[in-house]
Amino acid sequence: MVLKMLRHSPTDTISFAGRSIFVKRDDKLHPDFSGNKARKFYHFLINDFTNITRIVGSGSAQANSLYSLSVLAKMKGWQLDYYVSHISAHLKSQLQATPIIVSNYTQAHQNGANIIEVDWASPKLSDCQHLDDVINIFKPEYDNQYNEQEILFIPEGGRCAYARTGIYLLADEIIDWVKAQRITALSVFLPSGTGTTALFLQQYFIKKCQTELVDIKVLTCSTVGGDSYLLKQFNELSSDETEYPSIINDGVKYHFGKLYLPLFELWQDVLETSGIEFDLLYDPIGLSVLKNHIEAGYSQERQILYIHQGGLLGNSTMLSRYNRKAMNNK
Ligand SMILES: *Cc1c(COP(=O)(O)O)cnc(C)c1O
Repeated sequence: MVLKMLRHSPTDTISFAGRSIFVKRDDKLHPDFSGNKARKFYHFLINDFTNITRIVGSGSAQANSLYSLSVLAKMKGWQLDYYVSHISAHLKSQLQATPIIVSNYTQAHQNGANIIEVDWASPKLSDCQHLDDVINIFKPEYDNQYNEQEILFIPEGGRCAYARTGIYLLADEIIDWVKAQRITALSVFLPSGTGTTALFLQQYFIKKCQTELVDIKVLTCSTVGGDSYLLKQFNELSSDETEYPSIINDGVKYHFGKLYLPLFELWQDVLETSGIEFDLLYDPIGLSVLKNHIEAGYSQERQILYIHQGGLLGNSTMLSRYNRKAMNNK
């Protein structure tokens, strides 16, 4: 049941920036396991890991990864240990407070995740700068305490080769859809964090488009630290530049997690006109960059498919941050 639902997300048509575009609703993949991280962790869901009892991950206490890993662990009957740099007092208070702001953090906690705040003052972590270093220190301890085969270590944000399984499946869904719709040329657009999803999609389309005779290319934008940073991220995953997606921008260099009021207004506009709630971390930037691209006259002869990559559980926190900022600006 779960596996079947995870295979085909619906596609909507919306009116955006004066034209019609398609939206691939990966936010609707499954009620609990949806969006980008569900695609990336699909590999773990469908394969048998007979000996595994525990998974170890790391990242931000607000991350979509935390929630998706907690769902995965629950579905598989695994324990999740998730290391974070810091949990704010405000966030901690949400575990008891009423009304609770439902977030990735509260729901992961409810799913039984062990969310561990790193004690940076601990002597054995004195050489550690990043969460990756911390995991490297703890790894031998895990391997001692448990049988080595019982534990699966998952890199931050799901950034590695196993993410291909689910992302290639997403690419296949898009190819099937393009053929069914008789679309001759398609630009797939999605905002990038690490760039893993955009790169693996482009890789697969290049491989498949020759035999399938379809014209699909991937456009993306950076939400983390500019175009050159995203290029560097691509380079860490593949040295073959011919398989990189095209990076487009709207002239602004964005930084992850920062608030941009004009983008929030655009996000609200899209919510009103299309009825679709996009995420508030990646999508305001994605929507702005795509709007700019369309208004500059690009992709006129191509259909456009925007991938909605989920992440809606994080919106309540972002909304309260945006509302506070909007008030202060009045
Ligand atoms: C993780 C995530 C992304 C970024 O995916 P990358 O493969 O890291 O580029 C985009 N949107 C949402 C909602 C995400 O959760």
